[in-house]
Amino acid sequence: MSGFVHRPEPVQVPGLVHLHTGKVRDLYRNEAGDLVMVASDRISAYDWVLPTPIPDKGRILTQLSLWWFENLTDLVPHHVLSSDLPDGAPADWEGRTLVCRSLRMVPVECVARGYLAGSGLLEYERTRTVCGLALPEGLQDASELPAAIFTPATKAEVGEHDENVSYEEVARRVGVETAAQLRQTTLAVYARARDVARERGIVLADTKFEFGFAEGPDGEEELVLADEALTPDSSRFWPADTWQPGRPQPSFDKQYVRDWLSGPESGWDRDGEQPPPELPAEVVTRTRAKYAEAYRLLTGHPFE
Ligand code: ATP
Ligand code: MG
Repeated sequence: MSGFVHRPEPVQVPGLVHLHTGKVRDLYRNEAGDLVMVASDRISAYDWVLPTPIPDKGRILTQLSLWWFENLTDLVPHHVLSSDLPDGAPADWEGRTLVCRSLRMVPVECVARGYLAGSGLLEYERTRTVCGLALPEGLQDASELPAAIFTPATKAEVGEHDENVSYEEVARRVGVETAAQLRQTTLAVYARARDVARERGIVLADTKFEFGFAEGPDGEEELVLADEALTPDSSRFWPADTWQPGRPQPSFDKQYVRDWLSGPESGWDRDGEQPPPELPAEVVTRTRAKYAEAYRLLTGHPFE
């Protein structure tokens, strides 16, 4: 089983049409036809949106994405038009709301991996490949790859896993030219972000981008970086000072949540029929602190 433990009711705001409730973000369209993205404090783990929010998580992710977007504009344009609160929006939307260009989204999750982890590690252990790309012998959990690789996936519905696909499959779906542009842009942005993060004490092991197309200033269709970017929800961040291949790394994201849920205290069976339980206050506090710490290290400013 999977999905929302409690599916939230969309907030009604005059002038905004509710489009979609994602795992984390709620999407609206404003009267100008732009997209209004509101990042909630929802957290998902093991394919469930948990019943307990992490206070400020949506604000931290929104502010961190904005920071990255602004630092990447020489590599790729981004989708944000404004972070002003739409008229009539609830005060709680402050800091977590972005007005964005409404893009024709490319239906590919553009993943870059510079280190071996997660599903990449599992595949490597079986076949010495990651998403079908051959890798040298001798790599271990959390090893740095000889060069970063583009490992695209297709987006799954809530409760399903994203599915890795080959580069050739991406080319079949979106065309060779767009596929090449996705790969090139994904790897260029990853390389920049990895270097920036490394200087600030974080290993950016891997990350996922979403792109869309819109008409650019010259009237031509341009590729635009969308969604969120380079946050703990879309990336694996490891503390650089304790990075050591050969074992799982501590991380800046949902680790406490996952550990608690899969441990004995939660009383929850991942493979059973029951939805996951509420998180204890301590897990909430520590998780919030991890998100805030990633923000502080990367941007150089404390959150709030
Ligand atoms: P998850 O990211 O956890 O897999 P999700 O993608 O369904 O779940 P959210 O991330 O909560 O949900 O919602 C954001 C949605 O908005 C995504 O479907 C994303 O593709 C879409 N999106 C992001 N930016 C734009 C944009 N500029 N124009 C149109 N759609 C966008
Ligand atoms: Mg998303």
